[in-house]
Amino acid sequence: MPHLPLGPGREFAAIARWVRQLGRTAHEIGDDAAVLPFGDAFLVASTDASIEEVHFRRAWLSPADIGWRATMAALSDLAAMGADATGILVAIAAPPTWDSDLDGVMQGVREACEAARTVVVGGDTTRGPVLMLTVTVLGRATRPLRRDGARAGDHVYVTGALGGPGAALAAWLGGHEPRPVHRARFARPAARLTLGAWCAANGATAAIDLSDGLASDLAHVAVASGVVCDVELAAIPRCDGADAMAALASGEEYELVVTGPPGLDRLARSARTSGLTMIGRVRAPGRGERPAVRILRDGVRVDPPPGHDHLSGS
Ligand code: ADP
Ligand code: MG
Repeated sequence: MPHLPLGPGREFAAIARWVRQLGRTAHEIGDDAAVLPFGDAFLVASTDASIEEVHFRRAWLSPADIGWRATMAALSDLAAMGADATGILVAIAAPPTWDSDLDGVMQGVREACEAARTVVVGGDTTRGPVLMLTVTVLGRATRPLRRDGARAGDHVYVTGALGGPGAALAAWLGGHEPRPVHRARFARPAARLTLGAWCAANGATAAIDLSDGLASDLAHVAVASGVVCDVELAAIPRCDGADAMAALASGEEYELVVTGPPGLDRLARSARTSGLTMIGRVRAPGRGERPAVRILRDGVRVDPPPGHDHLSGS
C-alpha cells in the first residue's frame, strides 16, 4: 500500500512534505495508525500528544480528566482501525508547577485503561515548559479498517452524538462554564474500541476517528478512497443543545465515521446498545468532480465548516 493522500491545510502540507523528504525511509503513512504485518495479524500503532494551552487549559479540567482524555484520544486511533488495544506507553513532560498533580494525571490514565481494558507498558518522564502527555498505543487487528476502502454504494455512518466538545470549548472561550453534558463529552471521551472492532468484523470498508471535525475528517476518507461522500446535515446525530453546523465542525469528538454496506446500522443495533447512525451515501465522483465530502441540507449543497489545522495561525 502506498502513502495515503492527506486533506488540505498547512498541517497536512507539512506532513506530505516530510513524507517526500523521508523518501524510502517513510512507510505507508497517512492512516489513523500504522499497520505492520505481525504473524498472521497486524500490529497497529499510533502516537498522540496532548499539550497544555494547545489541547486544554489547566483551569478547565482536573488532572484525572487530562490523563483520561489524552489516553482515550490516542486509543481512538486504534478504534478507527478496528484494532484491539494491547498496551500503551505514556510520555510525560512537565514543569515543576505540575509535580503535585502528576499522580492525579496518572489516575486518569488508569481509569481510561480500565475502561478500555488495556494496560500501560511503559513511558518516559522529563521536564518541559508546559504539561505535555504523549500517549503511544499498540494494538492488534486481523482486518484493519483503512481510510482508502470506501466504495460507491456504501453508506456513511457515525457513532455517538456530535457537538458536545465544540459546545464546551465555545463556552469556556466565552468565559462561562459549559453545560455538564457538554463538559463531560470534552473531559471524558470514550474511544469506540468495541464498535470499531465490530464494524471491522461486519463488513465496514473504511473508518476514521473524529479529531478535527466530521466534514474535514471524512474528507480524508473521500480523498484516500477516490469517492464523493454525500452527507445529509439533518441526519447527523447531535448532542443536546448543539446546532447542526456546530456538530459538523466540532473536533476532538473521538467518535468514528465508518463506511460500509447498507444496513450496517440495523445490524449494529441488533448487536450493540450504542450503535451507528446512517448520515450519508458514497458515490463515484461525477464528470469533472473531485473526491470530496458534500454537505446537503434538504438535498441542497451547503459549504462545510473548515476543520482544525494545527499549523494554522502563528
Ligand atoms: P490522526 O488525527 O488520526 O492522529 P493526523 O491527522 O495527526 O492523524 O496525521 C495524519 C497522518 O500523518 C497520520 O498517518 C500520522 O501518522 C502522520 N503523521 C503526522 N505527523 C507526522 C510526522 N511528524 N511524521 C510522520 N508522520 C506523521
Ligand atoms: Mg485519527
